[in-house]
Amino acid sequence: MPIIKGEGVYLIDEVGNKYIDAISSWWTNLHGHGHPYIAQKIFEQAQQLEHVIFAGCTHEPAVQLAEKLLPLLSGNFSKIFYSDNGSTAVEVALKMAIQYQRHKEQGKRNKILALRHSYHGDTFGAMSVSERGVFVKAFENYLFEVIFIDLGGKHPTLNNQYSTFNPDEVACLIYEPMIQGAGGMNIYKASLLNELLKLCKQNDIICIADEVMTGFYRTGKMFASEYIEEEPDIICLSKGLTGGSLPLAITACNQKIFGAFLSDDLHETFFHGHSYTANPIACSAALASLDLLQKEECGENIEYISENNCQFVQHLTENKKCINPRSIGTILAFEFHSTEKEYLDKVKEETMQLALQEGVLIRPLGNTVYIMPPYCITPIQLKKVYSILQLIIEKI
Ligand code: PMP
Repeated sequence: MPIIKGEGVYLIDEVGNKYIDAISSWWTNLHGHGHPYIAQKIFEQAQQLEHVIFAGCTHEPAVQLAEKLLPLLSGNFSKIFYSDNGSTAVEVALKMAIQYQRHKEQGKRNKILALRHSYHGDTFGAMSVSERGVFVKAFENYLFEVIFIDLGGKHPTLNNQYSTFNPDEVACLIYEPMIQGAGGMNIYKASLLNELLKLCKQNDIICIADEVMTGFYRTGKMFASEYIEEEPDIICLSKGLTGGSLPLAITACNQKIFGAFLSDDLHETFFHGHSYTANPIACSAALASLDLLQKEECGENIEYISENNCQFVQHLTENKKCINPRSIGTILAFEFHSTEKEYLDKVKEETMQLALQEGVLIRPLGNTVYIMPPYCITPIQLKKVYSILQLIIEKI
């Protein structure tokens, strides 16, 4: 679809058709497309300083963004490391955790824990800690080994899974808190994750929360980690960080991690830096997005979407064609019966086309249909999205 303009919740194609972006352009957009405040801040920063090497040099937008974000993060975070996208944020987190163990002379800890059905990105490290499904099939032989823990089964308990690893051999655990995105919008219990995090913390296993999708109120709270008692050591952020306007990512770490890198020995440097690390225009866009997020109106909209999602889920539970309707905050999902498994199910294409004909852009994950709209969606627009979902359920 050739899209030539974005305006609020709408995407507009070259012949003037308008589509409600019900999935926030791959979960990035928070305040609507072409937001004038973000656009203005981008314009101003582009005239002041568009980019500068972020090794040896620093700049105001990066410092301000770090200072603003650190106190908002769920946990006791002390430093921010910038990169460009969700996958790089994850790579940085894994490298930080592995090198932390080396500095602590625990370098023999060469195992990594991840969750079944996880998705953490498309680069090799990120693929390695993701479910061995269709996204990584072609590269399987090139991925490093990971121990997968299942928190999402029908009667999951951790007890029978403890025996699958020796904590003294594990460097880190990576997880998507509360809901696994690309793995199928899979909502799981906070209590089980909390138990796992506790075990990890007792054994100096670094806990990495991948909040690339869940950050910035997607789940109803600023960060999904706020639902969980035990705090992560590292948090990965991207997608909504700039309100969906420019690529930027953050890997935040606590003092424990940072302290392990503090040394005069240059060999202990964290050797990782991308050309566009902490791009000043992207940082300014992120600051603008945070300003908008902190407005009362935005909080009210998030609450409105969350409440209406709950009611629509209630309504969907009465429909037999609709499997496991569920929601957490601004994310709502359900499944259709599937004949072909998973992501490649043809029902995806059918569902998508039906929605497009009615002016709504969705992109199901195989037989998992979901919505995750920008927070600026109006009650009338949200109602329209629900009614299109209803129509699709009847037609499929
Ligand atoms: N982690 C999670 C939880 C994600 O949902 C995604 C993207 N869907 C990524 C990492 C990778 O982000 P990016 O596409 O920006 O590399």
